[in-house]
This record gives sequence, C-alpha cells and structure tokens, in this order.
Amino acid sequence: MASNTAGKVIKCRAPVCWGPNKGQTIVEIEVDPPQHEEVRVKIAANGVCRSDAHHLDGDSCDVNLKYPLILGHEASGVVESVGPGVTSVAPGDHVILLYCPQCLPGRECERCASPKTNACVNDNFNTTSTMRDGTSRFRHNGQTIYHYCGISTFSEYTVAREAQVAKVDPKAPLDLISLIGCCLGQGFGGAQHMAGVTPGSSCAIWGLGAIGLATALGCKDAGAKRIIAIDTNPDKFEFAKQFGCTEFLNPKDLDIPVQQYFQNQGGVDYTFECVGGNQMVTLRAAFESLAPWGTCIFSGVTKAHVELSIKPNMFLDGRTIRGSTYGGLKSRTGVQKLVNKFMAGDFPLEPFVTGRYAIDDIPKCFDLLRQGKACRSIIIYN
Ligand SMILES: [Zn+2]
Ligand SMILES: [Zn+2]
Repeated sequence: MASNTAGKVIKCRAPVCWGPNKGQTIVEIEVDPPQHEEVRVKIAANGVCRSDAHHLDGDSCDVNLKYPLILGHEASGVVESVGPGVTSVAPGDHVILLYCPQCLPGRECERCASPKTNACVNDNFNTTSTMRDGTSRFRHNGQTIYHYCGISTFSEYTVAREAQVAKVDPKAPLDLISLIGCCLGQGFGGAQHMAGVTPGSSCAIWGLGAIGLATALGCKDAGAKRIIAIDTNPDKFEFAKQFGCTEFLNPKDLDIPVQQYFQNQGGVDYTFECVGGNQMVTLRAAFESLAPWGTCIFSGVTKAHVELSIKPNMFLDGRTIRGSTYGGLKSRTGVQKLVNKFMAGDFPLEPFVTGRYAIDDIPKCFDLLRQGKACRSIIIYN
C-alpha cells in the first residue's frame, strides 16, 4: 500500500507542551519523512496516562527533557511510510508504539539479546528528546519541537525508530489495544513476568488506577485465588471487580497499620505498589505485608529525591522487592503476545475506558485524570 505522502513533509495537528507548568496547546506542525531505520505512523488512538501529566505539571521524576515537546506514549496507529533499512513493518501495517525499545533480531544490543532484562541500551525515554541522530522530525512555525520517549504519540502523525514499533494483528480494535502500549503491559507484566504469580496464591494491590487494575488482570489470568484491592477511595471498589479483584480494603477503615493486618494473617504471597507519585509509605506497607517468601513489585513513578526506608532484617526471611519498566517484558514481542491474548479473550480492555475523546479534548482529559475522574480516556484520531 503506497501512500501519496511518502517522502514528503506532512502537516498535521499536535498538542505541544511548551515546558513544565507552561501549558499545552494544539497547533499545526510539520512532520519530516522517516530517516534510516525509522517509521512514520498515523496515530489511531492514544490513552491518556499519568506519566505525561507529571511532565506537564513540573513534578517529573529523574528526567532531563528538552522543550517544547510533544507528549504521548500509549498508542496504536497505522504505518504511513518507512525509511531505508526498515524490515519488520510496511505501509498499512497496524502497530503499537513502544516507549521502551526492543532492538530488531540480528541488530540487537547486548541487553536485547539477553533474557535477563528488557532495558535496551538504546532506551531514550527519560534523557534524550531527539531521534538517534540528534535531530528532531517535528517543527512548528520553523521552531524545532522535540520528541518524548522517542514516540510522541499525541501527534496525528509521528516518527519513531523501527525498534519502537510493534506490528500487531490487523483484526485487533485499534482503540482498545492502544492501552497495551503502557498500562496493560506494565501491570500484566508486573504480575506475570516480574512477580511470577502462581495459581492459588494471594495478591494485594495498592492503588486502583489503570496500572493497578491491569495488575489485577495479570494476577487473575495467572490463577491467583485472592486479589485484594487496596485504595482509600471506596468508590473504586465496585469498579475493580470487573478486573478480577476479590476483596477490598480501605486502610482508613483499619485501626492497625495495613501491614500488621496482613501479618496477622501470615502475610501475602505477592504485593504490588501501583499508587505512584511520592508514595514511599505505600511501598513500605506493600513490602512489610509480604509472607517471608513473598515478592513485592514496585510499578509507580517517583520523584528523583525520594528514598525508601525499610528494615533490612525483613530480607533475611527471603522477601524480595523488584521494579521494572513495562512489566519487565521485551516490548515488541511482549506487545504482540498481549494483543494475541486479548484477541483470544483472555482479558478485557473495554472496562478501562471511561471516555472516548477528540484531539482537542486532550487538556480536558488531563484535568479528568488529575481529579481522579478517569481511569483511561482514549483520544480517537480521524
Ligand atoms: Zn504510561
Ligand atoms: Zn536493545
């Protein structure tokens, strides 16, 4: 499928973030053609994730981004054109964008070639705001606009490295599978790949945002017996049942610390901190709620200066604490497996969606997220 825009600059719309606390406005931009081993994608759908809000609000974690830039990192789309050297996708292919790269077979870095990690040495999600050659593919009125995570998926068209694009089943609904690009993979992978939840086990999840709920789906799919949802907002509890949660706990209803509540029962097999922000209190509670053999998974994003205080003796019984990006999954092959599992009916995605919106609604969707009124807003592109 040859596109008549291939090789040409495309004019389209994108929300440009002018800097921390400097707002985001939707303007016309120019998108250059893809260069060597790059892909230009027409975005189909984009989930609105809290990680983007941290950059808008100036409370970013350990990052050094260049502004102005285009945010967005949870999206699906259709390949518009490809640059020289691209072998894994072609124009017309349906894809999910990957904020965490996975090098192509035969061109792997030492980490992508290893089963031990998904942290590609060419990752660019926190420190670089350009393509690999140090330049940008975006302009507005002649001004350079920078990239975010190498994918900038809020733009109607974006350019990404081939290592940051996964070809997926064209029958999969592009709106729903956008969520597999971030929250679903982070939570599901955290439960199954990082924790290794086993059938019949007990799991406790702090925070019922999209990552916490995706974690519950991963625990359920792995055959967990108890999936305990912990949140201070009781309004979320009924909602969480759709994701497999079997019990609900509001720490405000207890007259003892939540870790003591769990230790009185002998502890939990697996705990998950999915609150994020500055929540070292919840991470400590999740770790201290473990049974002696238990594993605690940290899935939030914290500010750079935050430190964790725990009693080292609690490690001596065998407790483990782990963290990961994208649930520890190799991004491209992990996304492809999750799309196939979704298409096989192994887990739902529609329950995450609290609304579908247009590109002009992006600022409103961030307000809904900040107010705790949205699980996932999905931006649908024309
Ligand atoms: Zn995200
Ligand atoms: Zn790599």
